[in-house]
Amino acid sequence: MTPVRRFSLGPQTALVLEQGDITRSDADAIVNAANERMLGGGGVDGAIHRAAGPGLREACEAVAEVRPGVRCPTGEARITPGFDLKARWVIHTVGPVYRGAASAAPLASCYRSCLRLAAEHGIGTIAFPAISCGVYGYPRGEAAEISLRSCREVLAAAPELREIRFVLFGDEPYAAWLQAAEALVR
Ligand code: ADP
Repeated sequence: MTPVRRFSLGPQTALVLEQGDITRSDADAIVNAANERMLGGGGVDGAIHRAAGPGLREACEAVAEVRPGVRCPTGEARITPGFDLKARWVIHTVGPVYRGAASAAPLASCYRSCLRLAAEHGIGTIAFPAISCGVYGYPRGEAAEISLRSCREVLAAAPELREIRFVLFGDEPYAAWLQAAEALVR
């Protein structure tokens, strides 16, 4: 059995923590921890591109560059269809490379930007990976707290959002999010 825990993040929004592979999620939207070019990469980004098929790369190429080589600046988000995924949408966001306390604001901005796009598209369920916790080196416990605080802050602006899921790849990120949720969420 995949570990799953359910909390309540607000009057109408559940928080679900599960251990697993986000590419298999049946959420309306899954979030990709992308890079600024948005043309795929390693980690969860590569897994999402492989599972979504070549349409995703074409859709990413079609996203306008804000400056040469940058389609999505750090802390912002862009949305594309999900192509071969179960998820209808992929929301691409670019987390910060961890550089101590200065990285907290851009990481919080990722979560807020994704939820703003979700609200604009009437998305009911969204699944996040542990943004910046892979090669970008963010300490998991800190990232988990920032993610939950940021999500809670913007809930009021996303009335159609019924469920925020975190799909955590492996025991350690799952344990970190569980500990943060037990401390911060009822
Ligand atoms: P970043 O560059 O933002 O650090 P990574 O892809 O390196 O992104 O890692 C972000 C997190 O995603 C890590 O915790 C990693 O274990 C996790 N991850 C990797 N593959 C998957 C997957 N298929 N589903 C969910 N999470 C994944």
